[in-house]
Formats: sequence, structure tokens, C-alpha cells
Amino acid sequence: MIKVMKFGGTSVGSERALRNLVSVVKGDEARKALVVSAMSGVTNSLIGLMKEEQGASDAFFDELLWKHTSAVRPMMGEDALGDLEAKLKVRIAGLRQAVDRYQEPSARVIMHDAISSWGERLSSLMIASLLKSDGVDSLAMTSEEAGIVAIGAPGNGTADLEATSRNFKRSVVPQIEAGKTVVITGYYGCDSEGRPLTFGRGGSDYSGSVVAYSLNASTLEIWTDVNGFMTADPRVVPAARTIREMDYGEAAELAFFGAKVLHPRTIEPARKKRILVKVKNTFDPAAEGTSIRDSKKNGDRLLKSVAVKSDLAVVKVYSSEIVYNPGLVMHLLATVSENGSAAYAISTSLSTLAFAVPSSSARSICERIRHSGEEVEKVTVKENVSLICAVGDDLINRTGASAMVFHEAAEVEANIEMISEGASDVALNFVVPSDKANDVVRRLHSKFIGA
Ligand code: ASP
Ligand code: MG
Repeated sequence: MIKVMKFGGTSVGSERALRNLVSVVKGDEARKALVVSAMSGVTNSLIGLMKEEQGASDAFFDELLWKHTSAVRPMMGEDALGDLEAKLKVRIAGLRQAVDRYQEPSARVIMHDAISSWGERLSSLMIASLLKSDGVDSLAMTSEEAGIVAIGAPGNGTADLEATSRNFKRSVVPQIEAGKTVVITGYYGCDSEGRPLTFGRGGSDYSGSVVAYSLNASTLEIWTDVNGFMTADPRVVPAARTIREMDYGEAAELAFFGAKVLHPRTIEPARKKRILVKVKNTFDPAAEGTSIRDSKKNGDRLLKSVAVKSDLAVVKVYSSEIVYNPGLVMHLLATVSENGSAAYAISTSLSTLAFAVPSSSARSICERIRHSGEEVEKVTVKENVSLICAVGDDLINRTGASAMVFHEAAEVEANIEMISEGASDVALNFVVPSDKANDVVRRLHSKFIGA
């Protein structure tokens, strides 16, 4: 059986992290593939570079080389380090060319994702060399070499799982069978013309899941800088603790609605093949972490975790047509996606449609609706609201669950502005004024999760 280990930006971002990475990899007998993020800060600086008028200076490229050698220097011999440095220089020269091309306005769209993904191209070389110098037979592979296929818009790609699986049979599987630990770049795949297409910020977690799917792995380990999913944000609820076991559905809801533990899309590919997903802490490898699989056991507790999505606004559209003209709802919601936003909750009545969107996009969505030519009487926006996402096993079938949760919200005098219930089997989502959100979380935690 094959195991996939994904290491995030902080987990490859310092000498200390890299020492732990080596000991984690060496300490595990399984045949494995690694998927790696860029060193922390690198993707941000590459994206920042593209916003600069004058392009990159020599100092920028020197700094990149320095960053990727200084972190491993104390752990590697002179020869191995020289070899790594030579490889990094070639790849940094490739980045220089890409940045030059980016100066041509016509190449901007194509080059944006290529440049954004350069951090992974560098970190994968660094990690494979580091492992090799410590006796692990390893090999760096870019997403191009491995054959990760992506479709969709720039900055928002989706992997073609079947095409990627077919490519892996030729590229990655033989290497693993030959005993190699393959180190694959996270964050991007390639479109039908071979151009890099990223999976969105934080997308390396999703890459890990795509690789696990394509290798029929038994386990996907996400190595990060926290101990796993928690019952609530510990800054809000000091008694919050790590959740040992979660269901795929619960983890997906929580990842989407607030807990910043892993990229929400990570769950889907793994779930399709029932791959065990484990979230582990590189800086505390002995900690148990969170295991995500098909599991339905919450014991007697009503809830497993409470997350909050803040900085939202509720947009409310009034039109006598709503219920008689189903196409209108579709058109109104299309304005949200045309705006590049997501609707975190949706609710309809006879003559109104309400949805919660990020505050930053509420105004422009309203403008789009006003100018859409649709039969709309009025559009209002309510700012400063937060979405509470209460997650628990099989909530949908627990009679009285909503009543119990809403009762507690009333106890802290939080007015419920909107409800989204029944859509998910495991989540009860509702919108409250932002200044009440933490009170609601603390109350629900103490009543239904416990100290
Ligand atoms: N390096 C990319 C980012 O910072 C992808 C990732 O780390 O997951 O967004
Ligand atoms: Mg990450």
C-alpha cells in the first residue's frame, strides 16, 4: 500500500521544520510519495512580484536561491549542496525567463499561474536533495513530469482525476515500485496545452488528495502546523480541543466554513476512494492529529465542532416574481459567481431571496443585480454578520437539534438573521450579527461539546 504525505509551507519553511520532515519520512516504512508546498512566504512574494511595475531585480532571485539553500545547509554535505545549488540555479533561470515574458501584456494570463507555481518547483528540488543526502532514495517531479491534469479557469483549476491516474501509471508508479520516494510539486496541474494551472491559494492540500487518488493510496497525511481540526477556535473557546475522528462530510463543511486547517476541496478526491486522511503536526509529530474517514460516531454529544465565517453580508432581493419565475433565482445567483464570489447560505420566500456573501463583494453584487434587467423591486444589504457552522453527526435526523441550538443562541440574545438547514446532513448553518458570534460559539461549545 502507498501512503501520500503532503507537507505545507511552514512544514518546509525552516531548518527546524525540515529536520522534522526528514525524521517523519524516515520513520515510516511505507512506500510513499510526497507532495510539497512552496516554502512559506514564497508564493506571496511571487504573486507580489507580478504586481511590481519594474519586474524582478537580481536581488530577488539571489534571495530565492539563498532561502532554498540556507535552510538545508546545516544538514547536507558540500557535494550534495553544490549539486542542489546547480539544480536550483537552472530552475531560477527558468523563472527569470517567465518573469520577462510576463512583461508582455499578451502573455500575462498564461504566465500568471506558471510564475505563481514556481515556489513548489524550487521546494520540491530542495526536499528531494535533502532526503537523498540522508539516505532516502528520492526523486523530485514537477506536476508536468508527473502528469497532473487540470481544467478550469486560471487560479481556480480542478484536477481531472482519471486523466491524472492514467498518467501516473507511466510516470510516478514505476518510480515508487523501484523503491523511490517521489517528491511532487503541489498547488498546480497542467491544462490540455501543457500550461500550468493552479488550484487556488492553499491548493497543495488538494494536490495531495489528487495524488493519493491517482496512486490508489491507503492514506493521505496532511502535515501542517496545528494538531488537527478543533472543536472550536481556541482563541474564542479556551477549552477547545483537537477532534480525533471525523467524517468526510463534517471535515469538508468545517474546512469550508471557517476552520483553516485544510483546503476544503481536499476531501473530495480522497472520499471517492475512501482514503484515510490524517491531519498531523510537523512540529509535534507525536500528537495524534485528526483522522478523517467514513465515521458516524459522535456518542451522545449533539455537536462535534462549531466554526465561524466572519466578514459576511446578507443581500436580500425583493421581487414578486421570485416564486413564479424560477429562472430569476438562477439569474440572481449567477451574479454572485460572475462576481467571483461564493454564496455561503441561501434562503428563499414567496417574494424574497436572501444570500450571505463576503462583505467585500456585497456592494458590487448589488450593483450587478440592479443593472441586470431582471424584475427586481428592491435590493438591500445587511453588513457585519457572521455565519455559524455547527457540525455534528447526522444532525438532520436528530429531532429537536435545531430547536436546541437556536434556544442557546436566544440565551445569548443573538438574533438569527438567516438559516440554512436541511441541505447538509451534518451541518446547521445560521447567520447572526458579528458582535454576537463569539458568544454563540462559546455557548454552543459549553452546552453541546463540553470542556
Ligand atoms: N504555495 C501555495 C500557496 O501559498 C499553495 C499551498 O501552499 O498550498 O497558496
Ligand atoms: Mg497550506
